[in-house]
Amino acid sequence: MTKRVLVTGGAGFLGSHLCDRLIAAGNDVLCVDNYFTGSKDNIRHLLGHPKFELMRHDVTFPLYVEVDEIYNLACPASPIHYQYDPVQTTKTSVHGAINMLGLAKRTKAKILQASTSEVYGDPEVHPQPESYWGKVNPIGIRSCYDEGKRCAETLFFDYWRQHRLKIKVVRIFNTYGPRMNPHDGRVVSNFIVQALQGQDITIYGDGSQTRSFCYVDDLLEAMMRTMATSDDFTGPVNIGNPVEFTIAELAKLVLEMVGSKSKLIFNPLPQDDPKQRKPDITLAKDVLKWEPTIKLRDGLEKTIAYFKKITG
Ligand code: NAD
Ligand code: UDP
Ligand code: UDP
Repeated sequence: MTKRVLVTGGAGFLGSHLCDRLIAAGNDVLCVDNYFTGSKDNIRHLLGHPKFELMRHDVTFPLYVEVDEIYNLACPASPIHYQYDPVQTTKTSVHGAINMLGLAKRTKAKILQASTSEVYGDPEVHPQPESYWGKVNPIGIRSCYDEGKRCAETLFFDYWRQHRLKIKVVRIFNTYGPRMNPHDGRVVSNFIVQALQGQDITIYGDGSQTRSFCYVDDLLEAMMRTMATSDDFTGPVNIGNPVEFTIAELAKLVLEMVGSKSKLIFNPLPQDDPKQRKPDITLAKDVLKWEPTIKLRDGLEKTIAYFKKITG
């Protein structure tokens, strides 16, 4: 039987690729988005497809639809966007989770939460395994996102314990690829756009902080495999690429690949910016039989080609 799958945040970067893959796999897809950071351009090619339905809706309000599976991705993901209206960010994570969990409870749908490596905060354990509880500032400028996502995880596990919902929690580490919003200030999109336009490359701090970058196709494969695990598997499971780079290394690689003469400039490091981040993916390897296959250079090539096209 064809599955009816709801993707919240489906017009965003990850959500739009997820809609593509779910449609390609023969599912009926309902994409829900309020277009805060996402765009119809990301899913325009799906409009008119008989298995695709688009709905403008804010997940902080109840949603009554009939579905079999829910991927809950709705939430601004980049610091400048989630800090733009921090109260709305927490509401989106918390009220959004309550509404989607209520929907899952009523429809008996399986529900997956897009959580984040930010639940580990500025980690003292490196790399980060799922068992690490994190070091998160509860009152800082990143807290609306970090604590919102942590509370959403709490809600998922309480609905699982209390109402026996079929839940899956994935903790996503930095992911990049085509359809990232060019204005959302994330490091990969910023550096590529700056390099393409000959603007200065803005390194925050001294560039020694690290991140581990996963290409979108690898990430979505892991996310869909998680949804397909047996009902006794809840996660949380880390998904991301464990190959770690400093931000300075990323800047140099982007400059070289674009063939740009942009200068590197050093700006102040934002408050609570994590110094290091790298997923321990032992659990994902074991349960999902998955590990990333796309090297940073190969993923950047596709991402650069995308930004060349849209910034024309
Ligand atoms: P994105 O900003 O491109 O997508 C988020 C989508 O959610 C957008 O389309 C936005 O308009 C929509 N949205 C925001 N608030 C909403 C609301 N109240 N109601 C309905 N829709 C709303 O970001 P993304 O990178 O695609 O992230 C998708 C999810 O994955 C987010 O939950 C994010 O926290 C999580 N995540 C992403 C990364 C990453 O590196 N990309 C890392 C960790 C976690
Ligand atoms: N909800 C929803 N769609 C549904 C069912 C519930 O949006 O199909 C929302 C509803 O607003 C409710 C929330 O989910 O407040 C939590 O639902 P639950 O059944 O857990 O709690 P209750 O209705 O008892 O508050
Ligand atoms: N960063 C940077 N220059 C930029 C944008 C980001 O040096 O133009 C840094 C940022 O301070 C952080 C890292 O790159 O240390 C990753 O930032 P991003 O916003 O992409 O993701 P997150 O901090 O949420 O991992």
